[in-house]
Amino acid sequence: MADAIRTTCAYCGVGCGIAATVTGERDVQIAGDVHHPANRGRLCSKGTHLGETVGLEGRLLHPQVDGRPASWDAALAAVAGRMRAAIDRHGPDSVAFYVSGQLLTEDYYAVNKLAKGFVGTGNIDTNSRLCMASAVAAHNRAFGEDVVPCSYEDLDAADLILLVGSNTAWCHPVVWQRIEATRARRGTRLVVIDPRRTETAEQADLHIPLAPDGDIALFNALLAAMKARGHVDDTYLADHVDLDPGFWDKLSRDSGIEPSLFARLADLVEAHPRMITLFSQGANQSRCGTDKGNAIINLHLATGRINRVGAGPFSITGQPNAMGGREVGGLANTLAVHLGFEPDARAEVAAFWNTETLCPGPGLKAVDMFRAVHEGRIKVLWIMATNPAVSLPDSAFVREALARCETVIVSEVIARTDTARFADILLPAHGWGEKDGTVTNSERCVSRQRALFPAPGETRADWRTVADVAAKMGWGAAFDWAGPADVFREYAAMTGLAARRGKALDLTAYDTIDGQDYDRLEPFQWGGARPLASGYRTASGKARMVSVQPPRSLADADFPMRLNTARYRDQWHTMTRTGLSPTLSQHRPEPLLEIHPADASAHAILDGGLARVESASGASVYRVSIAHTQRPGELCVPMHWTDMMSGEGRTNRLPNQSVDPISGQPGFKDSAVRVEAVTPKWRAFLVTCEAPQPMDLVYWTRSRLRAGWLYELAGAGTIDLDPLLPEGERLEVADTAKGMRRIAVRSAEGTLLAAIYLTRSGTLPPREWVAGKLLESELATRELLAGRPSEPLPDRGAIVCVCHGVGERDIARAADQGAATVAAIGSATCAGTNCGSCRPAIARILESVQSLAKETVS
Ligand code: SF4
Repeated sequence: MADAIRTTCAYCGVGCGIAATVTGERDVQIAGDVHHPANRGRLCSKGTHLGETVGLEGRLLHPQVDGRPASWDAALAAVAGRMRAAIDRHGPDSVAFYVSGQLLTEDYYAVNKLAKGFVGTGNIDTNSRLCMASAVAAHNRAFGEDVVPCSYEDLDAADLILLVGSNTAWCHPVVWQRIEATRARRGTRLVVIDPRRTETAEQADLHIPLAPDGDIALFNALLAAMKARGHVDDTYLADHVDLDPGFWDKLSRDSGIEPSLFARLADLVEAHPRMITLFSQGANQSRCGTDKGNAIINLHLATGRINRVGAGPFSITGQPNAMGGREVGGLANTLAVHLGFEPDARAEVAAFWNTETLCPGPGLKAVDMFRAVHEGRIKVLWIMATNPAVSLPDSAFVREALARCETVIVSEVIARTDTARFADILLPAHGWGEKDGTVTNSERCVSRQRALFPAPGETRADWRTVADVAAKMGWGAAFDWAGPADVFREYAAMTGLAARRGKALDLTAYDTIDGQDYDRLEPFQWGGARPLASGYRTASGKARMVSVQPPRSLADADFPMRLNTARYRDQWHTMTRTGLSPTLSQHRPEPLLEIHPADASAHAILDGGLARVESASGASVYRVSIAHTQRPGELCVPMHWTDMMSGEGRTNRLPNQSVDPISGQPGFKDSAVRVEAVTPKWRAFLVTCEAPQPMDLVYWTRSRLRAGWLYELAGAGTIDLDPLLPEGERLEVADTAKGMRRIAVRSAEGTLLAAIYLTRSGTLPPREWVAGKLLESELATRELLAGRPSEPLPDRGAIVCVCHGVGERDIARAADQGAATVAAIGSATCAGTNCGSCRPAIARILESVQSLAKETVS
């Protein structure tokens, strides 16, 4: 067997190291890298099952221009020609780039250099705008530079951890495992501040179910309480902090939560100076996200809980290289390497890049950029490694903008995405298993992503595509790189401009790195463990406490409910990768609308039924899950499903275009909506070895099976089976007693190609049973048509542990039989013994079984 290749996970900002052993042409065994500082061998379910996503299914392998295959040379000439024509006719700002935290730092550096340095437009923004732009803005306001002041090792040393707007157990699972370990080792207390009672919240010592956007009021009140109790560090304030004028007078004292709950929180904060506040999308994705970040930072600055072991405000990023993009200047409001657009910074950057066409100032942030596309001000839009037709708010508007744009260029790994459908030019890019470069994680640790497989088809590294386009436009000398090491070396050298201006970003130790050392590069953290301990990066050298006020409430009589959007444990962004994994698809095969029982009852909405959520921007339909974990009046839906994976389940139709006025980050977490039950005429499910795209249904979703796909369907009219079923012999049973039609399709050889079960009101059989028969022989077809399994089926319930296929009923049975801890459940069922991502869910089931048993006894 080949030696393991040390690389980095493709998904979240934890940035776990992976040891990947290639076992076949496109096969790889995945293990955690025990030497990587971010994870020390741990992985979550998504990282563990990366191997299921590296096949070539659905890959974009060749360039296309105007819907036809093209050579690379022709495609590059088309990109360069259309950009040149737009620049000549309409100026540089008629060209824009919308890029991604999925890009490697080398790709990011190249495209930022092309846009800002040579095309001469600031119009380059990134999907990191949707993720943590508010944290960036808060850092810049408070510290004078976008610097995360903590490290993961601080989590190991904290006595109190506040999680704000973070379902860490699902969204940053290896950080969660680290928190669990710290709690077990030193009794660290955990508070979760989140409107929803998530699996993370259920494990906390204290859950604060605050109202949406209630964070500023809460942190202001906490700061006021610490001042009243004598815990403001006046010496630290005098030496290291500037306060906005009238700061203390303007500080709001109403926490917005129940007084006794607030008192418990304040007691915990008072008692534990070694305190980390870890915040994520729940804080950032808000129309007041920057102020939330500063409210959190204010508490740490005022109490001196920063730049010390185990203390500090810690924003964790969503994407694998969101931080790398921030470093190079991928956000429209920075120039490059943490520098702004001041005349002297511009002069230094222009000299470094040897360009005379450097952009004059900041460009348009994501939402404004797509408005400019819609209005026709942007003529050429180059989208790289992201799916804005799904991920931006008000996605119907975004689609209109894409359809109107004169030239849409899409650099992609996957051939058919919701965004690729609008592309005039499609450029095939390296996927995770082929990428070669660096990424930076949430704690500023730079790691190598290394190629596992030869590049398939004509796919190319994005930095190379950018360099080739630049060469076609006459700027080849500035992009004359032979490999990613050359790009990295140039970027590292450029950080010298930042370092000389007193910034913490400094990679100049790597500015002469050669190809071999780059190949062997070990993870390293720029700025060290606590980069602001040597001073803040403002003009005064002091941090700034920004006076922030709670926002006004969103009252809307037409749309009286509040909608939150969330991420699932085993899915990633728009599912273009994780949606291909049969293992990961088991956890949540459909997008669920979580609704409080009182709201469900008020709207006659049934558990397991369907419901439509509607905002002023659009409407989507979901499967209903009635959940006590929701606050009354509030709904929650996942953000992942696309038009490729569902009929009406695309969530980002719902949020409007309102953004944080400072960071430009959209407020995904709090939209005004209404909800109603949907009653289809019929329901069905289909298992099939093909992947049809159903049309004109009330609802459909699909999820990956080992041998095909599982579809959930519901309709209002008659069903047209022809577009849904594959070619083959069709056998049908109409079971009038059960009110069900059962149709199987088999091949000439007798293998089962598809089976569909339809009913108006009956109970459909277990999907797992039918799915297990796909591509099996004759006997399977007969059994399915009979509608009954020949042997009793295991009653698993919803799958909790995807690694071992253990369901919630398996876990409940083990608990009934005496397994009293998560470890004991693991011994009895194997659940939770591999990646550990399901351990919070096991704890939840265990707790409910145990409390039921107590109630029964009493
Ligand atoms: Fe990947 Fe999971 Fe680690 Fe995130 S926590 S980097 S998804 S293995």
